[in-house]
Amino acid sequence: MIKQRICIVGDGLSGLMTAVILSKVSGLEVNLIAKKCIKNADKRTTAISDTNYKFITQNIKSFGKKLFWPSKKIKLFYETSKENINFLNLNEANSNLMYVFENDKIKKVLLKEISKNKIKLIRKDLKNLDELKNYDLIILCIGGQSNIYNSITKIRSIRKDYKEIAITGYVKHNFKKLDTSQFFLKEGPLAILPFSKNYFSFVWSVKKYFFENNSKKIKTLVKNKLAENLKNKQDITINNIQSYPISLSLRRQYHQKNVLILGEGLHTIHPVAGQGFNLVLRDIKKLEEIIRYYVCLGISIKNSYALNDFYNNRKPENTIMSLGVDATHSFFKQNKYLDPFKEIIVKNIKNNETLKKFSKIISNRGLSL
Ligand SMILES: Cc1cc2nc3c(=O)[nH]c(=O)nc-3n(C[C@H](O)[C@H](O)[C@H](O)COP(=O)(O)OP(=O)(O)OC[C@H]3O[C@@H](n4cnc5c(N)ncnc54)[C@H](O)[C@@H]3O)c2cc1C
Repeated sequence: MIKQRICIVGDGLSGLMTAVILSKVSGLEVNLIAKKCIKNADKRTTAISDTNYKFITQNIKSFGKKLFWPSKKIKLFYETSKENINFLNLNEANSNLMYVFENDKIKKVLLKEISKNKIKLIRKDLKNLDELKNYDLIILCIGGQSNIYNSITKIRSIRKDYKEIAITGYVKHNFKKLDTSQFFLKEGPLAILPFSKNYFSFVWSVKKYFFENNSKKIKTLVKNKLAENLKNKQDITINNIQSYPISLSLRRQYHQKNVLILGEGLHTIHPVAGQGFNLVLRDIKKLEEIIRYYVCLGISIKNSYALNDFYNNRKPENTIMSLGVDATHSFFKQNKYLDPFKEIIVKNIKNNETLKKFSKIISNRGLSL
């Protein structure tokens, strides 16, 4: 049987994960194109849901348990002028709510899988889609910003510049106990994600002007903010501080002929709910199912409805979830007129068991209820 040839472009989490998952479908030859040098290692962590954790660990056996730090509890706080209201605690007695991994470690394992699974890795900076004419399917995982997308879709996507920066970093600590938490602070949301016994990572999304005005003293600022909110004065060490501009970008068109956009290029969302890569993983799962189906039937992907099927399956959830995250971000944004009302709403959320249940299901499985 002649193998169908798939080319994946980009070695971020989306590209590497897609390449490894698709390489397990028999009847496919998978190639990966990635840029030559990586200047800055991705020193972030990513939180994924229990369902997505199961999807990747069942498919990629070399993902050892040690790479993922489980969490059974998530605490949410809302800062008012008087106090930090602990307005929601999500708990799961018999399973984990989420798992946190270090991006660079997961990428390393995926790169090993690439060579183990005989995926041809071509090191180059793709300039033009004409270079990829001989493939049956091309999957672009080249991040949120690339001129290459202009040759695929002219249809406007939904775009919003939050004019915010996500400050990320790793913290070494000796605290006895630390829960995964999200603090909705006046300056912007601050997430605390433990990823080993003595380390947690943080993501603090702040206004661009706040970041620029404080860029020389960010470490001290973060240190004080963490001590204040975690109510712990023990000394901590902060490393690997990085910053990422935040935007919302939702593609209306997902593909053109046999070229598909995937990952951040399809949907870039605010990191406040830690949902970006969770959506990508659900996209990859569905794409794998669809491709496997067509390949099993001996149908050429190039001439099939595979990418239409993918679009019809994934567009509704991607749009609703992304706009839901945007609405969450807007709700918690400081607003002197609305803040007193928000305080009342937030205080009432605590007792709403249905809402708690709903939030857990949505963040775990998305809209595939
Ligand atoms: C601060 C922050 C925190 C986050 N936290 C979470 C979280 O907790 N949970 C969650 O689910 N999601 C989270 N996300 C989202 C998550 O990080 C992304 O969804 C994920 O990293 C996937 O990115 P990507 O691979 O699609 O794009 P990128 O990481 O941007 O990768 C694109 C790759 O394409 C390559 N490339 C670009 N152009 C070319 C070219 N022409 N030729 C060859 N290669 C090219 C680049 O070199 C790069 O390697 C977070 C995002 C941010 C910003």
